[in-house]
Amino acid sequence: MATVGFIGLGQMGQPMATNLAKGGHTLRVHDVSAEAVASMVANGAVAASSPAEAAGGADFVVTMLPNGALVRETLMGENGVATTLSKDALVIDMSTVHPLETDAMIADMAKLGFSMMEAPVGRTSDHAIAGTLLVLAGGTKEQIAKAQPLFDLMGSDTVDAGGPGKGIRVKIINNYMSIALNTLSAEAVALSEAIGLEFDAAMSVMSGTPAGKGHFTTTWPNKVLAGDLSPAFMIDHAHKDLGIALDLANQVGVPMPMGAASRETYNIARSAGRGRQDWSAVLEQLRALSGLETKAK
Ligand code: NAD
Repeated sequence: MATVGFIGLGQMGQPMATNLAKGGHTLRVHDVSAEAVASMVANGAVAASSPAEAAGGADFVVTMLPNGALVRETLMGENGVATTLSKDALVIDMSTVHPLETDAMIADMAKLGFSMMEAPVGRTSDHAIAGTLLVLAGGTKEQIAKAQPLFDLMGSDTVDAGGPGKGIRVKIINNYMSIALNTLSAEAVALSEAIGLEFDAAMSVMSGTPAGKGHFTTTWPNKVLAGDLSPAFMIDHAHKDLGIALDLANQVGVPMPMGAASRETYNIARSAGRGRQDWSAVLEQLRALSGLETKAK
């Protein structure tokens, strides 16, 4: 069993640390909230008055903090982890931070002689309590293998995201998509209600179509991802249908900023001569606009 310095005992960190302790590890815990530390101590953890104290004698240091600046300060600031950490220990940042900050912290810790990886998590505090988080591991194979016993206590699934810095990248992309989709979904429901549609009926239709299922597993595999832009449903028609929905929304007074922005993407694709291509060609259009290699013929 290992000694784990755990820093950041909030909604997520507290249950994650608790699951490590239940798994038999020795916990040295630090948080700016004395209350959070006290409740972990009541469950057998050792209180640390600074990150340095939490890291002293630890095999692992886990950070679960609100942002990257706090993680950096905790690791490399005054009384930080780096002042006491063993060179054999592994630092695992499990917070959600900016990926370029992660890259810089891993590089700066390496310059000081320390091994650091990131492993942000998917799902919610309910899953943190149940020990069923989705762990998105960004590190070398050796780092991930070393951390795996801890991940298995905090989560039910670990994904090797493909190397250092890749775990936080996939976390941010995943959150980008689900957070933006949340507002798109809200626009659809508000418009449904404004035009008198029964939500149950609408939901049962949309749960079976790309609207509810997403495009990665429905419309894209045989089209843009296969390099085939021949139209199953063409950009011109998608643009028309989106325009009808937006016009309807304007008439009944429902603001739909996500849909309006999306229509401009279809507009751009049409201007680029893609009107009769498959609607999945918006991906090719965005690749082109971003200076990335286009992949379809
Ligand atoms: P939280 O605000 O509940 O917890 C953060 C903890 O960090 C608090 O206890 C706070 O006192 C402590 N803290 C702040 N500054 C500190 C410092 N300098 N030194 C020591 N402790 C300090 O937040 P949370 O919901 O536990 O989220 C933590 C991280 O996990 C965030 O990066 C968040 O984006 C990410 N996350 C949250 C969820 C979720 O559902 N809540 C899910 C996945 C990822």
